[in-house]
Amino acid sequence: MHIHEYQAKTLFNQFSIKTPKGVLVSTVEQLSKACSELGGSVWVVKAQVHTGGRGKGGGVILCHSMAEVAHVAEQLLGTQLVTPQTDAKGLPINQLLIEAGQNIERELYLGLLVDRQTQKITVLASTEGGMDIEKVASETPDKIIKFGVDPLGTLSSQDCDSIAQQLNLTDTLAKQFNQTLLSLYEIFTTKDVSLIEINPLIVTAENTLLALDGKIDFDDNALYRHEDILQLRDTSQEDEKEKKASEHQLNYISLDGTIGCMVNGAGLAMATMDLIEHHGGSPANFLDVGGGTTAQRVAKAFELIQTEANVSGILVNIFGGIVRCDLIAQGILQAIEKVGLSLPIVVRLEGTNAAQGLALLSRSKYNIYTEADLTQAAIKIVALSQEQSK
Ligand code: GDP
Ligand code: MN
Repeated sequence: MHIHEYQAKTLFNQFSIKTPKGVLVSTVEQLSKACSELGGSVWVVKAQVHTGGRGKGGGVILCHSMAEVAHVAEQLLGTQLVTPQTDAKGLPINQLLIEAGQNIERELYLGLLVDRQTQKITVLASTEGGMDIEKVASETPDKIIKFGVDPLGTLSSQDCDSIAQQLNLTDTLAKQFNQTLLSLYEIFTTKDVSLIEINPLIVTAENTLLALDGKIDFDDNALYRHEDILQLRDTSQEDEKEKKASEHQLNYISLDGTIGCMVNGAGLAMATMDLIEHHGGSPANFLDVGGGTTAQRVAKAFELIQTEANVSGILVNIFGGIVRCDLIAQGILQAIEKVGLSLPIVVRLEGTNAAQGLALLSRSKYNIYTEADLTQAAIKIVALSQEQSK
């Protein structure tokens, strides 16, 4: 689960990480009070959307008068923000964070994530923070400092000092950095975070470290034990279809290909997508209906796939281990009866009662291609969907 920058900053403050003073607004009327409260003569208007790259997309704007703040806010509120990290539609701007402008001397990068290769929580830090960090990472990877935390130990103060030294921080700043990094690590481990990032972490002209931005992603599987974090969810930022899918315990992710997939099990879904690609097609989605799925859930999944605009064919690939294939077949038929069938469909069933399931489908009055072999099924759906989109 993602949260907004302003929410990340509130959490930062609770753990003694310093941020600029800011006020959240959702209407233009709240602006003048917000600016006076913050004081000063420079403000930054920041769109609160669940994506990075806001600076590049025109969602972070430095203003030198209250009139400018009002003008910029009016332009942004109620619109969609498109950034290099969103799709063409972008994300809705319902709230703005107004912050007191800062005098920036240096922009650092500081983040923590789980490195799956080394199986460690890993600190990433760089002297080259700011809006081009992705470019720094890909073109000059030696400028990214990496430190893996011993899974049986913890991040020590000495570790933080050594990272501070590599960032060329003076003693005063190194001390602040040490506190900031230890706090980040504490948030990471106590809140079941999968990624936490401050970019940029700035050195101000007044020689203090401030988190100018904040990004936190939480492990969805651990949210059940963080009621406070769940409260921060903003569904306006979530994909309509993915949201609907999660209501029915379906793992659904929209992709930009043309073949809709319905599979049980994440690994099988990945293999199915690979096979479609291998035979010249491209998947329109990742959809895992779960191991112990039900006919109702299959029906729901089927509905979801059919509403995806770019789909020109559907491949169902179910392995009946816990679930019975004849029940899946019934679910598919129920779904077709309810929402109709306007696209070519290939169903591959394997496992418990596979033969009965396939027979049920081929006996039906609908034009369903059945297949016991996955490679054949993939070849068939690629051909059918190419024909369909002609
Ligand atoms: P992101 O593009 O979504 O990562 O948004 P950020 O919150 O990181 O803001 C983008 C950039 O705006 C930062 O890297 C800063 O360079 C700049 N910025 C943000 N706040 C201030 C500020 O108070 N003063 C100045 N001068 N620049 C700012
Ligand atoms: Mn940023």
